[in-house]
Amino acid sequence: MRKQLLFSRRHVKGLYSLFLTLRYTKVMARREKLRALVLSRKDINEADRLITLFSRPYGIIRVMAKGVRRIPSRRGGHLEPLTEVLCIVTGSEGRRYLAAAETENEYSQLHANDEAISHMSMLVRALLGFFREEEPREELFDAFCQACDLLPTLPSHKKDALEIALMLVMLRQSGIFPALKACTECGQGQPVEAVVLDASVGGWRCLSCHQSFQGTHASLPIRLLKALRWLGDYPHRALMLRFEPLESRQLLVAVRSYVETAAEMPLKPNWNHNQTLASQNYA
Ligand SMILES: [Zn+2]
Repeated sequence: MRKQLLFSRRHVKGLYSLFLTLRYTKVMARREKLRALVLSRKDINEADRLITLFSRPYGIIRVMAKGVRRIPSRRGGHLEPLTEVLCIVTGSEGRRYLAAAETENEYSQLHANDEAISHMSMLVRALLGFFREEEPREELFDAFCQACDLLPTLPSHKKDALEIALMLVMLRQSGIFPALKACTECGQGQPVEAVVLDASVGGWRCLSCHQSFQGTHASLPIRLLKALRWLGDYPHRALMLRFEPLESRQLLVAVRSYVETAAEMPLKPNWNHNQTLASQNYA
């Protein structure tokens, strides 16, 4: 009789990554000093504010800033969305408080550039749609900080490429990356016509396989499907990609539409950070 192996190579690999996760998923202490990006804020009660932070070791964290709107408050001026802060967070999961905050990086160039802010707003929106609170997202945190620095310095088509690349990284990390190899309907890998990216089928379909008008406004020529595949494989090389005029925008529209459907949330341009997001109940 053939001896059954307890763990196949695949299982061992799985266990190893589980071990790594357990080892590196730190539990947040009741008082922690953190570097974080402020994602959004929302006024609560008379003087309080609910702040959503993106931290390197714990990912998204929602904290209550008590009395922050009372003047004078030492913390009040340091909680602008899309600034980086060094802060002290106290409390336990589901009920965390901001004890102190100090601005580390104002990203003033970013804030002076409407186009760049609009890209970051979309990315923040997707981040909050894709991920749960208090999951470590170190690589993504670094990428977001880098995007805050880079976006205002880039021409429009490179701004688009950077947003697309980061959207693709988030789709991959949340396990809903689109199947880009072949048409989800006919299985053709090299389409001869434009394709439609469609989150409801988890990938793309040739225009003739796509049996509705939905999403056809965001159809992609073959060249852009190739660009999308390349960006999915090499997101860190996004800025090397060359686009013809308007192509980057066309690809961005398709990717945003995919993200909206995949994360079941609307991505609105000029989204206002000050009025955001359903939040935990601190009452
Ligand atoms: Zn097809």
